[in-house]
Amino acid sequence: MSGKILMLILDGVGDRSVKKLGGKTPLEAAKTPNLDRFAEEGQNGLMDTIAPGIRPGSDTGHLALLGYDPYEVYRGRGPFEAAGIGMELDPEDVAFRCNFATLEQGKIIDRRAGRIKERTEELARAIQTIDLDVDFEFEKAVEHRAVLVLKGEGLGGMVSDIDPHDVGTEFHQAEPLEDSAENKKTAKILNDFMKKSIDVLSDHSVNRDRKEKGELPANIILPRGGGKVPNLDNIEYKHGLISGAISGIPLVQGVCSLAGMNVLEVKEATGGLDTDPKAVIDATVEALKKYDFMLVNIKGCDLSGHDGLSEEKIDFIEKIDSSLDRLNEIEETYVAITGDHSTPVTIKDHSGDPLPLTIWGEDVRTDDVDKFNERACSKGAINRIKGGDLLNILKDLADRTEKFGA
Ligand SMILES: [Zn+2]
Repeated sequence: MSGKILMLILDGVGDRSVKKLGGKTPLEAAKTPNLDRFAEEGQNGLMDTIAPGIRPGSDTGHLALLGYDPYEVYRGRGPFEAAGIGMELDPEDVAFRCNFATLEQGKIIDRRAGRIKERTEELARAIQTIDLDVDFEFEKAVEHRAVLVLKGEGLGGMVSDIDPHDVGTEFHQAEPLEDSAENKKTAKILNDFMKKSIDVLSDHSVNRDRKEKGELPANIILPRGGGKVPNLDNIEYKHGLISGAISGIPLVQGVCSLAGMNVLEVKEATGGLDTDPKAVIDATVEALKKYDFMLVNIKGCDLSGHDGLSEEKIDFIEKIDSSLDRLNEIEETYVAITGDHSTPVTIKDHSGDPLPLTIWGEDVRTDDVDKFNERACSKGAINRIKGGDLLNILKDLADRTEKFGA
């Protein structure tokens, strides 16, 4: 009988030597009896999610883990964000991530409109009344975020951001990044959208109320990360796997959903440090009864990495570790535990440092590694692989591959 497959992705878990931790990484400094047991009973190695020295985004990293070549399929973050909040996309559409932001005297003074949380639904409804040369959809996402999808034929996906990615500066005009009539059309429509968004937002009652309370108005939409919908071969047909995914981040949910995976709603997977890993693991164990392949992304560590907080990262690693008991229960499942990229607290961003990887399952050939961390796993039997090979390795272990040749 074929086995099942679980990829447990600890987002941003990898790190570098931290002086404050006596040269250890947060994973080495953390007490992780459960992770260590998986390493001891499994086989271990390092993994470059995309390739050595390449810093993956969470989108390109997960594309690689799902067996796609991100260099071939990746066409911008926007479509994944759109799919992540449940928007339906057609192949011709161009999607953008957007921020509600604050414009004052021609300059962007806050890219998150005072981290606006409430009543963005009302602002989105006002935006939806704008008249453009093409059909479009605009939906709010969490907090100050939103998604814009331009619809119709003849649109290009290669245009520059309106978001200046900085404050105290003017917003940018969208320009075609490659010379084509399609990209010019998209840029022109995007610039028109932005102008009209300022018109409908500037005197909106939500913003009048905000100003009265001394809060920054959300009076401009800043689109960025535009791209056309990638054409991903459905994972069910490509790999013959009925697949599910759990993640608290719309970007990862979007990647999985566009790959044809069933994105399960688990409200305890918040995408933040308040994630309840126990509930996530419970949901995973249940889901494995139904799905051949589960990808489970637990975010937390990445946030501490971005904030440079090694103690917080250690705490969250220990919180994950203590939730892993229940994984013992699963049978005939091959489990890979790794990350999508490193987020070293010394760098405060994603890095190309390879990740520790443990593959665990009933009959995997064990090695001498008995700890789950960067240095220990580097001595294991898997040596060093690319993320794009991981699903094949797991499929082979689970007896789900076809023989190549006679
Ligand atoms: Zn990150």
